Amino acid sequence: ACRASRDPPVITGKDDAAVHGVADVIVGVLGGGQLGRMFCQAASRMAIKVMVLDPQKNCPASEIAHYHMVGSFDDSATVQEFAKRCGVLTVEIEHVDVETLEKLEQQGVDCQPKASTIRIIQDKYLQKVHFSKHDIPLPEFMQIDDLEGAKRAGDLFGYPLMIKSKRLAYDGRGNAVAKSEDELSSAVAALRGFDRGLYVEKWAPFVKELAVIVARGRDNSIVCYPVVETIHKENICHIVKAPANMSWKIRKLATDIASRAVRSLEGAGVFAVELFLTKDDQILLNEVAPRPHNSGHHTIESCYTSQYEQHLRAVVGLPLGDPSMKTPAAIMYNLLGEDEGEPGFLLAQQLIGRALCIPGATVHWYDKPEMRKQRKMGHITIVGPSLGNVEKLLESMLNEEKSDSQ
Ligand code: ATP
Ligand code: MG
Ligand code: MG
Repeated sequence: ACRASRDPPVITGKDDAAVHGVADVIVGVLGGGQLGRMFCQAASRMAIKVMVLDPQKNCPASEIAHYHMVGSFDDSATVQEFAKRCGVLTVEIEHVDVETLEKLEQQGVDCQPKASTIRIIQDKYLQKVHFSKHDIPLPEFMQIDDLEGAKRAGDLFGYPLMIKSKRLAYDGRGNAVAKSEDELSSAVAALRGFDRGLYVEKWAPFVKELAVIVARGRDNSIVCYPVVETIHKENICHIVKAPANMSWKIRKLATDIASRAVRSLEGAGVFAVELFLTKDDQILLNEVAPRPHNSGHHTIESCYTSQYEQHLRAVVGLPLGDPSMKTPAAIMYNLLGEDEGEPGFLLAQQLIGRALCIPGATVHWYDKPEMRKQRKMGHITIVGPSLGNVEKLLESMLNEEKSDSQ
């Protein structure tokens, strides 16, 4: 079912980190997108070998992975074959074949975080049920099976009403908003109907979106990264500001809720907790990702230990690193495809050209084979002495770009 780009590696046994030092460990990552690529970059400095499983021959991680198995992370036989070749199995995407992970765990394969965690997270409705059982504050939610159910939810929660597909969601692609009862059926149709498994959430009237990256080691030690503010454009993460400009009290509340949410899940690794801040200073949890996250890209340049290195340390069983910032402020800007094909590449190139002239800016290009509108193609992080300063630098980069194309 799978092809290999090179000869398969041989593993020297389990618990390599403890016995032989990190150099012998092979970390298998399900998924070889940009997160997988940044795993590989962090791993190479630590002499940890990262293998990725991804169906796309020229996926972002392919070139720099120790080994890329071309195959689907959603296919049982392929995942089993892949697992044989690694010492510890982890993910860069939650939409993987979790039944197989559970089976592998029973056979003694080391999955971090645990398959139980992936199972809860990959179904957003299950995730909400899980966190509400653990007293984590959430927007109210309810499963809907037909239009009557959706109307009842609308009566209960009011409008706008957020309708979400339970599974396979990313970049807002499983979300639809109904502004009134009249829009319910078209919103459901936009999500391809009830068969896919839908639920609704009460609208969260947030004033800011925040995120906290929480890391847990194999020994259950926990560290939290500084709270960041995330700014979304059409449901896609667009800008991240670190640290979030808020009172000490709100930062503590957000961090407490995030670490409580992560404590309710099993296994080692980095977890990203997406949060809403409401105008009456309440924090509500939106969702958790069981892996490094867009909101933590800035940590590569701005923190003592990046989220990618931290995840590797966690799953391999090394001591967790220092998550604190080594620069006063950072801002991350996602390079989203603005146009298909060559014109899109040209626009991105212009922006990258600007970024390269800005002190404190670092360009990350994911080398995706195809340029598509709204696709995450790369990102730029700017670090500096204050949030005001990096905001200004980003603004000048974006505005100059606009005046360029006029
Ligand atoms: P991701 O790429 O983060 O995995 P996703 O497809 O899983 O995204 P969500 O995180 O559920 O989607 O939602 C995307 C965005 O939609 C949120 O960041 C937020 O801006 C908005 N949103 C989600 N749920 C609600 C809600 N209940 N009320 C208001 N806005 C919401
Ligand atoms: Mg999501
Ligand atoms: Mg989200």
